[in-house]
Amino acid sequence: MTEQIVVITGASSGIGQATADRFTAGGARVYNLDLTAPAAPTAGAIWRHCDVTDHEQVAARIGEIVREDGRVDVAIANAGISIRRPFLEMKPAEIDTLLAINVRGVINLWQAAGRQMYEAGSGVLLATASTNATAGYPWYADYNASKAAVLALCRSVALELAPRVRTACVSPGYVMTPMQRLEYTDEMIDEVNAKIPSGRHAEPAEIASAFYFLASAEAAFITGQQLVVDGG
Ligand code: NAD
Repeated sequence: MTEQIVVITGASSGIGQATADRFTAGGARVYNLDLTAPAAPTAGAIWRHCDVTDHEQVAARIGEIVREDGRVDVAIANAGISIRRPFLEMKPAEIDTLLAINVRGVINLWQAAGRQMYEAGSGVLLATASTNATAGYPWYADYNASKAAVLALCRSVALELAPRVRTACVSPGYVMTPMQRLEYTDEMIDEVNAKIPSGRHAEPAEIASAFYFLASAEAAFITGQQLVVDGG
């Protein structure tokens, strides 16, 4: 089998980095589109500077990869940010930035990669949503709305691009990543762990496994769906 060509946004850290590691371990050629290079090397993934909010830049990066490797088989829109603050204190500029990364970023990647997948006749579009997309959660209202938008995109794009291209989302619960460490104190992490039936945060590699499954032939009849990975 020829090697899978996989593009992941936000793979310089956390879930994206673990996902890049999982796919390279499985023999894929992986491109990491991120604003910054990874601090610790991501196993074999090729970093290309990219701001996912910039439609032209994302299209240019995908164009370069298709010229070099002939195609993109799997595109994972994972780059995302969250900002913890009360709804009534959310500033318009912050909300715009969050939505540009978390929603426009997914659209930008899925359009650029989806177009060439559709023409080629096959491909898989994946994204990182969140359990916050479907459950109410205070102090993250704009983030939660952005992740609900990702699920809506997933369902609609699945119908438009089937049967050539599949879509799916992974919806993690709490994952121990730099994003989580920035916003939570140790006490808050202990409190959260006590509420999770599995008693702990997920490791990024456990989210990566879900992406690996959804991208594989084992998931060939799954499209427009989310896979929740939240420890119960
Ligand atoms: P992280 O902060 O560790 O990594 C995010 C990466 O995205 C970083 O490398 C960052 O440079 C990159 N990025 C940010 N803005 C970008 C832009 N404009 N263009 C390109 N790259 C950009 O975060 P993480 O915890 O690994 O989160 C990854 C995804 O998982 C996000 O979509 C997040 O919402 C989602 N998620 C995280 C958790 C969690 O508990 N950590 C839970 C559910 C969902």
